[in-house]
Amino acid sequence: MIGKCLGAQRCRKIHRTLRRCKVTVFCFVLTVVVLRGTIGAGKFGTPEQDFVEIRDHFYFRRRAETHRVLEEVQTTSSDNEVASGTNSETNNYNDFELNKVLVDEESDDSKLDPDKPYSLGPKISDWDKQRSQWLKENPDYPNFNAPNKPRVLLVTGSSPKPCENPVGDHYLLKSTKNKIDYCRLHGIEIFYNMALLDAEMAGFWAKLPLIRTLLLSHPEVEFLWWMDSDAMFTDMAFEIPWERYKDSNLVMHGWNERVYDQKNWIGLNTGSFLLRNGQWALDLLDAWAPMGPKGKIRDEAGKVLTRELKNRPVFEADDQSAMVYLLATQREQWGDKVYLEHAYYLHGYWGLLVDRHEEMIETYHPGLGDHRWPLVTHFVGCKPCGKLGNYPVERCLKQMDRAFNFGDNQILQIYGFTQKSLVSRRVKKVRNESRNPIEVKDVLRSLYPAFKAVKVSSS
Ligand code: UDP
Ligand code: MN
Repeated sequence: MIGKCLGAQRCRKIHRTLRRCKVTVFCFVLTVVVLRGTIGAGKFGTPEQDFVEIRDHFYFRRRAETHRVLEEVQTTSSDNEVASGTNSETNNYNDFELNKVLVDEESDDSKLDPDKPYSLGPKISDWDKQRSQWLKENPDYPNFNAPNKPRVLLVTGSSPKPCENPVGDHYLLKSTKNKIDYCRLHGIEIFYNMALLDAEMAGFWAKLPLIRTLLLSHPEVEFLWWMDSDAMFTDMAFEIPWERYKDSNLVMHGWNERVYDQKNWIGLNTGSFLLRNGQWALDLLDAWAPMGPKGKIRDEAGKVLTRELKNRPVFEADDQSAMVYLLATQREQWGDKVYLEHAYYLHGYWGLLVDRHEEMIETYHPGLGDHRWPLVTHFVGCKPCGKLGNYPVERCLKQMDRAFNFGDNQILQIYGFTQKSLVSRRVKKVRNESRNPIEVKDVLRSLYPAFKAVKVSSS
């Protein structure tokens, strides 16, 4: 009886337990279906993926969606990395090999016909006429902003390839920032070129086809200012004395005696010069270019230049030596329109200037442009973007930093800051912030100089 009784009770218990189990299993299945509907496991979801996703859903529900996406991408990439044994999907820039993206292209062999003389382009003989016609038809783009304020385009550039050492690209950026600042303060437009427009004219000769292209594309530009990538402005306030060059077409830093009498290869410098747009400039470029084509022509011309010029080392023809040679041998053709300037540093050799920055700061002020406060400091021979320079790398980079800071301080001061020292990247405030900012006079009064003002035509 008791046994029967117990049996019936047990039976009921078992039934009850089974019913509960059914409800639990039903609830579990329902949960799985709902979760899959909400987060899914992708088109090809596996039970394992389901499990991982459900777990993630519970543990990381509060994470921002973007974070989750990033994490998923990371997981997938590291899986791929392991699978393929490459780092092509890495998110870590330190691990990535740049040559996967920037493939070094073989340079084309010279396609130059040795029987035909090299030319920069089709011969143009009436550029002055064409240009003045254009200026007449486009009065909104005058070549002068004011009687002694020509429209100027500063042109600079560097090779299409990254520098040999990435630090070189950092210095290119600093040098570019420096030029942007000077140009903004002086109302000058800027063009940065990284394309090799003519394969024959690689290296220091690249500026010739570039300058020709820009003169012809910008008839509104009166003066083109070429500046090397390794040259920096160290006087942000100095304005070029344009009036002095009203009868000149080419202005370079240099000395008449050293070029015309001594034929010294460093009698002038082609790292920073002003060239007036016109037929004369096109003719000069044509006369300057023939020693440029790389290979045999450039190598043979280098021998002539070393033989004919004073103190020139043995190396291929360079644009500077070719200019000295051209002027020294054809003075009557070009000389009267060439102004060799040394009253201020349109180009200044860094070796003579950068050690004196502290003395300059103590004694002088911006706006002088000469040995007291040089307009341009040019790191001739440093080759920060190349493989091998003529000076110790450490000295070059340290001095480039000093020159950059010397120039940049003049910009920072306008905005109420200064560098802690010429060798520091840190800045400090030099004036308290005002509640009337417009009343604060800028230190150099250089943000609104008279030479920058341009009247907008009333039409
Ligand atoms: N340059 C260029 N493309 C090149 C190589 C050089 O535009 O592929 C320019 C760059 O602005 C560089 C200038 O040519 O500053 C002259 O070369 P560099 O300054 O190295 O000669 P240096 O002044 O030391 O004689
Ligand atoms: Mn240079």
